[in-house]
Amino acid sequence: MIVLKFGGTSVRDGRQFAAVARLIAARRSESCLVVVSAMADVTDELERVGQLAREARADEVERVLNELIRRHRHAISEAGITPAEAVNLEDESNHTFTRIRQLVTGVTLLGELTPRTSDALLATGELLSSKILATCLSGMGIPTRWIDPRELIITDASFGAAVPDEDEIERRVKTVRPMLEKGQLVVTGGFVGAAIDGQTTTLGRGGSDYTAALLAAALPSSSLEIWTDVDGLLTADPRVVSHARVLPSISFAEAAELAYFGAKVLHPATIRPAVRRGIPVRIKNTFRPELKGTSILRDVEGIGVRAIAARRGTTALFLSNPRMLLAHGYVARIFGIFERHRVPVDVIATSEVSVAITVNEDAPLEALVRELRELVEVEVVRGLAVVTVVGKGLRTMPGVAARVFGALQEINVIMISQGASDTNFTFVLAEGDLAPASLRLHQEFFETVNEKRMCAELWDTSETKDARHSQSL
Ligand code: ASP
Ligand code: MG
Repeated sequence: MIVLKFGGTSVRDGRQFAAVARLIAARRSESCLVVVSAMADVTDELERVGQLAREARADEVERVLNELIRRHRHAISEAGITPAEAVNLEDESNHTFTRIRQLVTGVTLLGELTPRTSDALLATGELLSSKILATCLSGMGIPTRWIDPRELIITDASFGAAVPDEDEIERRVKTVRPMLEKGQLVVTGGFVGAAIDGQTTTLGRGGSDYTAALLAAALPSSSLEIWTDVDGLLTADPRVVSHARVLPSISFAEAAELAYFGAKVLHPATIRPAVRRGIPVRIKNTFRPELKGTSILRDVEGIGVRAIAARRGTTALFLSNPRMLLAHGYVARIFGIFERHRVPVDVIATSEVSVAITVNEDAPLEALVRELRELVEVEVVRGLAVVTVVGKGLRTMPGVAARVFGALQEINVIMISQGASDTNFTFVLAEGDLAPASLRLHQEFFETVNEKRMCAELWDTSETKDARHSQSL
């Protein structure tokens, strides 16, 4: 049994629904549970309709709503669905459109958009897309069951970011297993759930991956495939390192590290339920299905450098006070101030009498710095970037630091942080140095003969050399 999840761009129009249906049909021998997102941008548009309705901007509501309905009707007409099937589907879609209108009228009258109403509204995107996809598949002669996600994904009642009840989901999913065993294809919508009293909830924006991982874990499935519009996770940000390569496999910890440092392909937390059960997750490109994509595994054998991640927009605070030499409680007091001002701390480096701390450039610093100055001298440096070498065993592998700094010879490294985890080696530099540093590190670890020494154990580099990608890390 496998779970296949298709994102919004994969089903952005009728032709894409048909293409996705063909991809699924080719996998039929494997018993597939399919999870699909709303068509591209639909959730954004539904959110907009909700806001406009709350502000009683009737004309704009009407315009956005009509466009949404038109897009879905057009998709149905272009998805290659037989006329007989299309009639049913149109009927059901019309029901959903009516429901949207009712919700919108309610919001307009009350001038209030509660999280609960918002969830009911946003959920319609996935209800529509999953029905369209299910109809495409049954129209191809494949026995298909559409299942309302609210029957499977049971959550608490925190609307907007509902917390799934994994035990209850596992019980519900038991009803799906026999269908899959009989060779039926099962299609459901991502993102949407229901509280135990039946109220519609959502798992939060981007939640379809989470749905897929929850279902994969509950079945359990032998694998989870996330079909999207990029080739996979890359060795570096392709906007900086244009020749970055697709990673055939990566561990969950490394993927989490990459996401933290800016890779937007997926949020690893959302696939955690599957990874926890040891279910391999594969990122695949719907538009280039022939590529292997990237596998995210609980653990990957071997040690070495996997990727270079980088993030702009960092500010450093250099704190010092000679009186603090050997004093205890110093660091605790400093962090207490950050805590009080709710400013999250990123990279940290310390010496006897100083501490350097980086924060996001958007963090409100004025009050924080004022209070810090009562304790220590503070120097604020803006316009910095954080570059991270991500891999496995970096703490124990000799020579990583030498190679990193060998590659960065002409670059001024402002801060270094290593050892907190085995998966990253992080340093801070001027924003202007982000690109040269990334390029040189990429060259050092992925483009030279040395690569064989530190990376070859991790992955075969021959396979993905020419993969093109549109990923934004
Ligand atoms: N359609 C939802 C969103 O755009 C969920 C998803 O696509 O994962 O946030
Ligand atoms: Mg999405």
